[in-house]
Amino acid sequence: MAHELPPLPYDYKALEPYIDEQTVHLHHDIHQKAYVDGLNNAEKKLADARAAGDYALVKHWSRELAFHGSGAFMHQFYWANMAPAGKGGGGEPTGALAEQIKKDFGSLDAFKKQYSAASVAVEGSGWAVLAWQPQGNQLVILQSEKHQQLTQWGVVPLLVCDVWEHAYYLKYQNKRAAYVEAWWNVVNWADVAARLAKARG
Ligand code: FE
Repeated sequence: MAHELPPLPYDYKALEPYIDEQTVHLHHDIHQKAYVDGLNNAEKKLADARAAGDYALVKHWSRELAFHGSGAFMHQFYWANMAPAGKGGGGEPTGALAEQIKKDFGSLDAFKKQYSAASVAVEGSGWAVLAWQPQGNQLVILQSEKHQQLTQWGVVPLLVCDVWEHAYYLKYQNKRAAYVEAWWNVVNWADVAARLAKARG
């Protein structure tokens, strides 16, 4: 099922004077659209590979899937994370979000200073990201310098296979394929299913 470019949640000039209309047009209509098209193309090429049983280009298309998928999804978050100034945009967070920020960063001011510093220090095609870390029940600020290197931001991992050598070298030496083949025998499908159910909500 093809991904579509979602319309902006507001008018192109709604973020003026802070974000100008022409930038929003180019950013949404050209750049984000290219990510959506690239994501669809990568998914199609991977479907073709499955149909043909030919995985010669799986590395290339997996990277394209990550690059364009991250680009497409991050822009969705970006637009949704903004609103016209004075009409939902600006001001201060309230309620549970405000409390969590105070707990994890000390104050709103400290949070904004760290977030701004992280944003300014990102190199290249990057993002600053405030994220929820369920493992520690806390907010964290991360940098994404090349969004594709952290796979598709916004997805929820369900089944992971560690393929760094420390995971298999003692028994399988350089034979990673043999390790991966054997690994299927110990996959806990009930855990994967539970993660999927939780992710779907
Ligand atoms: Fe962008």
